[in-house]
Amino acid sequence: MPHGSLSLTPYLTVLEDLQSVLDFDAARQRASAFRSAGKADEALSFGYTRSTYWLRLELTNPTDKPLDRMLEISNARLSDIQFYRPDAQGRYSVHRTGSAHPYATRPYPNRYYVYTLQLAPHAQEVIYVRIWSEGAKLIPMTLWEPIAYAAYERQDYLVQGAYFGTALAMTLFNLVLFLTLRDRLYLLYVAFVLFTVIALSGQNGLAHEWLWPAIGGSWPNKAASLGFSLSAGMLTVFMRRMINTREVVPRLDWILRVLLVFFFTAPIATIFFYVETAGQITTAWAVCSPLIMLVGVVCALKRQRSAYYFTAAFVLLFVGNSSSSLAALAILPHNPLTNYGSQIGSCVEMMMLAFALADRVNVMRREKETAQREALEAQANLIVGLQASERMLELRVEQRTHELQVANDHLAALSMTDGLTGIANRRRFDEVLAAEWGRAARQQHPLAIGLLDIDFFKQYNDHYGHQAGDDCLRRVAQAFKAQLQRGGDLVARYGGEEFVFIAPAVDAERAMRIADAVCKAIESLGLPHIKTPGGTLTVSIGVAAWIPLPGTSSQDILRAADQALYRAKQLGRNRAEVH
Ligand code: GH3
Ligand code: MG
Ligand code: MG
Repeated sequence: MPHGSLSLTPYLTVLEDLQSVLDFDAARQRASAFRSAGKADEALSFGYTRSTYWLRLELTNPTDKPLDRMLEISNARLSDIQFYRPDAQGRYSVHRTGSAHPYATRPYPNRYYVYTLQLAPHAQEVIYVRIWSEGAKLIPMTLWEPIAYAAYERQDYLVQGAYFGTALAMTLFNLVLFLTLRDRLYLLYVAFVLFTVIALSGQNGLAHEWLWPAIGGSWPNKAASLGFSLSAGMLTVFMRRMINTREVVPRLDWILRVLLVFFFTAPIATIFFYVETAGQITTAWAVCSPLIMLVGVVCALKRQRSAYYFTAAFVLLFVGNSSSSLAALAILPHNPLTNYGSQIGSCVEMMMLAFALADRVNVMRREKETAQREALEAQANLIVGLQASERMLELRVEQRTHELQVANDHLAALSMTDGLTGIANRRRFDEVLAAEWGRAARQQHPLAIGLLDIDFFKQYNDHYGHQAGDDCLRRVAQAFKAQLQRGGDLVARYGGEEFVFIAPAVDAERAMRIADAVCKAIESLGLPHIKTPGGTLTVSIGVAAWIPLPGTSSQDILRAADQALYRAKQLGRNRAEVH
């Protein structure tokens, strides 16, 4: 007890009115039924009963001077308090207040119920207090010297102000963090702190004083119950999300979920069905807090980083709450630490959780940095890989291009070459003839062509077979080509067993010499042909050579060569004739 104050518990006698039927006179007449109910330093406590309690207190002033005293009932959640005091003539008058009445009904402006008493010299009076409440019947009653009370009151409001100021700052700060970081955990934290503020300010009367002074009835008590329930629920939600209990401790998480259902449905029962759930909430909280602590410890043992902070925060809250409860039960001494245990515990818890949130930012930043580094490395690898595959692709393309070039060349050659003999084909001959004809015309050079036809080749085929005929064509082609090796000369297969040569800048005389040489060369191959007079394979050649004249075409010289060939055949074959 602070200096200058006195716990009235040992001086009180109590009458329990189970049915709430007694009026003042009836209660007063049962003086013998009043029983002493509590030890010194203990608050009167009857738990969650439905009874009404009549308290009787004898006050005496043994001095010669009038005495001023304050009588404080420090439980803001008592619904209805009727304070009976006699005047000088011994006539009793009643003053009525309580959480179910507007704040203005209080005899003295304070979060608790405070009565100022003046005791005349040598006065002796008996006070009766009728108390009814929906909540727990905890009735701490203290007598104060006015100056001591003023000092206590200032200190009390300062501590409360500090607590709620801290809570407000944490709320705003984390709200800003939520708006900036968009991490819903911050919003859960803000909700948790707000509900805690409602719970504690409802519990200690400040909410009734500052938030809803005009409201009476059951709301002030319900607000506190709502606050506790939702605060516990929010803390559970916060924990589940923060330390990821669903994955880390799935079985314990399942129990947490059941409790969550209770914490969020209890307020509905409180509001809509007018059920006072304070007792159940206290019970649920009694189950929940060791469970939350267990979950925290298990997760911390599993090296869940956030769990360290969370568990520390929760243990501090628990210690704070327990110390004030134990002080109320006179197990711990009353001192500022135990008196304000809940507030201190809650304050430290808020701080620890804020630490946890800050640490989370650290962890996330580190994870982000790691991820960025990995992404960069991956990107670098990708680039190297891309470059390599690009190079490979280039090589491939080069190779393919080369192959294609070769194939194209080959195709081009094929399209210009005769498949059977391997010398130029008719198409190539036409092209070269046109080109050489034009050039000879421009430069006024003679152009010679010779048309070669194998003698009696039909019979050769008939006699030796078509296969042998083909071999023979190849031999003739090679021998023919061997006779025309000058640059610009062309030997081509004209069709069937007919061949042709083009010799630029060669006149008729020289062309005839070439043709004669060819005839001799082929005859001297000595290919047997029994259908010829000499027994060997021979050829006939028709030659034409001149400087292109205006108005003539390459077809004219070709026709002339053909006529010369016809003449060579006529004149006995195995010879060259010029047009
Ligand atoms: P001539 O002395 O009057 O030229 O008598 P010929 O039998 O040679 O008569 P012609 O020139 O009309 O004969 C063409 C023959 O050449 C017909 C065919 O049997 C043969 N021949 C044409 N092209 C080919 C070929 O690609 N391979 C083979 N084996 N024979 C061919
Ligand atoms: Mg022929
Ligand atoms: Mg022939």
